[in-house]
Amino acid sequence: MKLSVIVPSYNEEDNVLAFYNTFTQVFKDFKGSYEIIYVNDGSKDKTLDNLKEIIASAKNVKVINFSRNFGKEAAMYAGLKEAIGEYTAIIDADLQQRPEILLRMVTLLDENEEYDSVCAYQAKRKEGKTLIFLKKCFYGLINKVSDVRFVEGASDFRIFRKKVREAILSLEETNRFTKGIFSYVGFNTHYIPYCAEERNSGSSKWSLKSLFKYAISGILAFSTLPLRIALPLGCVTVIGSFIYLIVSLILKVELATMMLFFFLSFFSGVQLLTIGFLSRYVQLMYSEIKKRPVYIVKEVLTSKHYKK
Ligand code: UDP
Ligand code: MG
Repeated sequence: MKLSVIVPSYNEEDNVLAFYNTFTQVFKDFKGSYEIIYVNDGSKDKTLDNLKEIIASAKNVKVINFSRNFGKEAAMYAGLKEAIGEYTAIIDADLQQRPEILLRMVTLLDENEEYDSVCAYQAKRKEGKTLIFLKKCFYGLINKVSDVRFVEGASDFRIFRKKVREAILSLEETNRFTKGIFSYVGFNTHYIPYCAEERNSGSSKWSLKSLFKYAISGILAFSTLPLRIALPLGCVTVIGSFIYLIVSLILKVELATMMLFFFLSFFSGVQLLTIGFLSRYVQLMYSEIKKRPVYIVKEVLTSKHYKK
């Protein structure tokens, strides 16, 4: 099998067939075999019914049907575990990421032995100014605090060779932040710019709140800075308390009372913040230790004419 295409799909009833038709049209002259792996991530609409219709007649389509919504990270992970292709690609179901670009990415891997992976990054975003600004801040921050480098706008819209897929799968952590895992595993990645199209149908599954939660989990998964700041903050607290002692000894005035209150409130805030970060890590460690599965597959459906 030359190419495995993973398509995470959550409430994409009007997109899965449109995606299939567009994809097969674009890849009609493709030399080599391919499989499309739809991961139905607990959709509440008719996505599964429409996928069943696709596999009834299509060649080489697989549907991994989750028991509930586990999120795009889990969907990608499930797809990666199922993929058997020499190349593996991840692409959204809503046609914002065009199959034509994916075909170009395949050609780039074919023609350049030295590339292990090709990643499409969003050169221009059609999103609101606030969201663009917040995403910029996220990349600025994560690149400052993390040991691995995050390319701004780099999406999950990628294609990579088998060895990259195997490396990604060798990271068995439960709290998966794939953007970071791609950077973490390394390999030679070639970046190409792309501009996301309008959604074919439906609306984005990401709210500002869920994006914020995602950004925080990314920082916690790939940086220990929040843990490490406890030590210098503790030093500052101790030094500050000595300075306070000296100042209040010299001043012996009412101001000292004011300072006392200031220090008390300020440092109890600092302590609370530190404890807050610590507790987030403890929370993450707790869920890792429990080794909960990232997802639970209810069934794996294979098209009638499925050929390896
Ligand atoms: N998706 C998913 N599970 C989720 C949320 C999203 O599988 O819990 C899929 C979704 O169906 C789509 C892709 O992930 O194929 C990207 O989602 P979306 O288009 O909502 O994100 P955006 O393009 O707005 O960043
Ligand atoms: Mg989208």
